[in-house]
Amino acid sequence: MCTSRCSVAIAFKGIPNVNILPSEKIASIKALASGRPLGEREIRDIQEGVYLCTNCYRCTVVCPVGIDLQNLWNKVRELLLQRGIPELSVLSPFSF
Ligand code: SF4
Repeated sequence: MCTSRCSVAIAFKGIPNVNILPSEKIASIKALASGRPLGEREIRDIQEGVYLCTNCYRCTVVCPVGIDLQNLWNKVRELLLQRGIPELSVLSPFSF
């Protein structure tokens, strides 16, 4: 549901990073939250996925089980910053 409504899912055609898609971001975030060591590439892909998000809330609105996905993406941004991973220099122009 969330990926089919995502405003930036179309970007996946040009940027082959599954973390752009909200449903796929969840799996990566579970790995991040578990504390499993992630490679630099995995971290960069997660970061790119959450930073390309436009904060449109469409994924949250359609979630059939009421998960506040938008809040989750923002928490991941915070978590990455807390771990000393700097923000990407390129943010979606629609973010914030
Ligand atoms: S809030 Fe982000 S992840 Fe959710 S639908 Fe919008 S662009 Fe996609």
